[in-house]
Amino acid sequence: MIIDLRSDTVTKPSKGMLDAMMNAEVGDDVFAEDPTVIKLEEKAASMFGMEAALFCPSGTMTNQIAIKVHTQAGEEVLCDVNSHIYNYEGGGIAFNSGVQAKLIQGSRGKITAEQIEQNINGDYDWLCRTSLVELENTVNKAGGSIYKLSEVLPITKLCKEKKLGLHLDGARIFNALVETNESAKDWGIAFDSISICLSKGLGTPLGSLLLGKKEFIKQSRRIRKVFGGGMRQAGFIAATGIYALDNNITRLKEDHKRAREIGTTLSGLSFIDRVMPVESNIVIFDVNEKMNGADFQKKLSDNNIKISAFGKQTMRMVTHMDFTDDMLEKTISSLKKFN
Ligand SMILES: *Cc1c(COP(=O)(O)O)cnc(C)c1O
Repeated sequence: MIIDLRSDTVTKPSKGMLDAMMNAEVGDDVFAEDPTVIKLEEKAASMFGMEAALFCPSGTMTNQIAIKVHTQAGEEVLCDVNSHIYNYEGGGIAFNSGVQAKLIQGSRGKITAEQIEQNINGDYDWLCRTSLVELENTVNKAGGSIYKLSEVLPITKLCKEKKLGLHLDGARIFNALVETNESAKDWGIAFDSISICLSKGLGTPLGSLLLGKKEFIKQSRRIRKVFGGGMRQAGFIAATGIYALDNNITRLKEDHKRAREIGTTLSGLSFIDRVMPVESNIVIFDVNEKMNGADFQKKLSDNNIKISAFGKQTMRMVTHMDFTDDMLEKTISSLKKFN
């Protein structure tokens, strides 16, 4: 048995999901003729009370399309230092849109309306024009931390006043919503665009959706084609997304429970220093000087447990659909054995 805690992207489609794929009705989606893609887009848009949606191969693509549509070359996007768009999208902000990022040091990846206001450039020829604010929920690199809607609404208000776009990288938005019990529709009202991933906790093989107003999605559709993301009989993949939205959201709480148990175990180990508060399915922690980070990773891997390194001594474990209670037990007993 291999226990893979490197990411929640490692899940494989379940039997029910595979059946949904096999039974999908398809057409050519570049001609907007794939009924299953259209159904998925309408379903996701309506969950968030947004006008329209666009199905894309990856969350990097949905974020990058959003940045491209919201900005002009030479402008600036404000985001937290931990943001995925800045750290893990290959410099795409600059590469695809000719835009620069101004990084704000938030608290566990979360920035406030006050911080944003202080960082909006005035209208001077020599200053970069600020045009977009980007938030992430949950914040991956900050340990799966969760924004409350009450923290976001002042940002929505500020962006409206200052005429800035507001984009949410909601790759793991459902992990946040099942914890807070906030409604997707309330989140939809707060943003101009939202990206959601189907291939993280929701367990599809691939796919993300970009949500927004009709005109925004019309422009996004064009950019998706230019970026090489126009897909043909994509309904076979979209069917997995419909299945995931119907079946795999509420169960995310189980992943969170298992992540908390791992966090508690780690906190009790002599060679672990800092475990970030576990708010969802991500556990980030530091191995202290009693053990070398690479040795720790190797010891786990010798026990068939894979995790990712986030730095020399910083490690990340992510729970997901294919991580069972048996695997949790084995992980906990292996960790305790090293103590
Ligand atoms: C995974 C992830 C994405 C999308 O990444 P892809 O690998 O392109 O699917 C975007 N934002 C966050 C926060 C993520 O964790």
